[in-house]
Amino acid sequence: MGVRTSQKPSPMQILHPFAGSVQQYNEQLSNPDAHRPGSCPQCQDKHPLTAHGFYTRTLIDTAFDGVIRVRRYLCHACRRTVSLLPEFVLPYLRSSLTVIALFLIARLLLAQTLAASAPPPMPYQRGQFWVRRFRAQAQALCAALAALTQPAPAPDFVHRALAMLESTGWIVAHRFLFASVRCHLLGWPRGLAPDGRRATFSSAAAPA
Ligand SMILES: [Zn+2]
Repeated sequence: MGVRTSQKPSPMQILHPFAGSVQQYNEQLSNPDAHRPGSCPQCQDKHPLTAHGFYTRTLIDTAFDGVIRVRRYLCHACRRTVSLLPEFVLPYLRSSLTVIALFLIARLLLAQTLAASAPPPMPYQRGQFWVRRFRAQAQALCAALAALTQPAPAPDFVHRALAMLESTGWIVAHRFLFASVRCHLLGWPRGLAPDGRRATFSSAAAPA
């Protein structure tokens, strides 16, 4: 029983300061200097990080369905890596922010049916999963986004959060939420709350 410190370094994701299409993202990815972090976001060491390869992840965007590369950097001071996630994706979700935003607006704001809503067509369960997570996250989003925009009069938190995201812009809101308050637009998966990093402590008795 008890709590032990995990020895595994926690990987950290930060946002690649890039706004553009998936194709434009891919084209500029070969240059490691373009967005090289000048200091370490984890240990605050002041030296520029070293390019450390890529990992791949799948992405579904309005006009793209495939694999993208995500650049990694290594900090020599703390020996931990940082990955630079493009701004059009949400951590741990396969679909792009644009696809998710279009779907949520159609489904929750315009009250369209699932079938009529988002391009591209997708499984029913995936949309329901986003709706469920967005509903659970709506109140926290309203509170966090009040730093960017006036809370709009709305019948509930879901509609208010959507209105605030629309007035701010989803990418701008995501950038602020993720970079400044480490808040995931749809909520972090279990085990990564509250700031998107694995808990430092893990209980041997924790349920799966
Ligand atoms: Zn470091």
